[in-house]
Amino acid sequence: MARGKKIYEGKAKILFEGPEPGTIVQYFKDDATAFNAEKKDVIDGKGVLNNRLSEYFMTGLAQIGVPTHFLKRLNMREQLVRSCEIIPLEVIVRNFAAGSMSKRLGIEEGTQLPRPIVEYCYKDDSLGDPLVTEEHIAAFGWATQQDMDDILGLALRVNDYLSGVMYGVGIKLVDFKIEIGRVYEGDFQRLVVADEISPDSCRLWDLETGQKLDKDVFRRDLGSLTDAYAEVARRLGVMPKTSTPTKPTLVN
Ligand code: UDP
Repeated sequence: MARGKKIYEGKAKILFEGPEPGTIVQYFKDDATAFNAEKKDVIDGKGVLNNRLSEYFMTGLAQIGVPTHFLKRLNMREQLVRSCEIIPLEVIVRNFAAGSMSKRLGIEEGTQLPRPIVEYCYKDDSLGDPLVTEEHIAAFGWATQQDMDDILGLALRVNDYLSGVMYGVGIKLVDFKIEIGRVYEGDFQRLVVADEISPDSCRLWDLETGQKLDKDVFRRDLGSLTDAYAEVARRLGVMPKTSTPTKPTLVN
């Protein structure tokens, strides 16, 4: 498919103009970054795996009625998505304490939380994506109260879906981050799950062994990131069991 002009290049993806107005081509790079891009590397095959995994999760969400920006996967590294206006928030849902929450509140990693906790961070790399409250969000006009109600609803539905899918393949969903986009349909706007859902933006632990199968493998130097992501893909049936993790062979 003909790719249009480059619109934006982020840490893990490049966005190009899509073939139709209102569409965008999302290209998944192999670049991995952590700690606000202080740690960087190129991980062979990561983009291919995240393209497939994000397709899998977005398609599943659409099937249970959660709106997403995903339209279709185009090839190994690209997917067609609806163009939307990204709300400048990282919406984080946590089921177990880990990462920044454990540090901030002194809660041991892996402690089950009394209920899913939703946090919002203001998307600004130069500030290190600071945690903000709904007061900040309303006062600075990043989203309305109605948007926030919808965002909370979407975040909790994504959490239930992802937790269930992961549990079914022996993986605990510790936490994840999503981004939300605004799509305009005539005079109406609605909110959709945008960006990507992949092991780059989730914490995934093996239910039995606690082995990390997400970007913490890269952040904490715990081994091969592609092996970890390929294991998630293999368990979900996105990759055939026989393929070797270092050379991802994808179904379809
Ligand atoms: N996360 C993300 N992008 C970010 C920050 C966090 O995808 O810029 C994800 C991260 O992978 C984890 C969850 O959001 O699944 C919670 O991250 P946390 O706040 O604990 O931050 P971290 O410890 O990664 O700095």
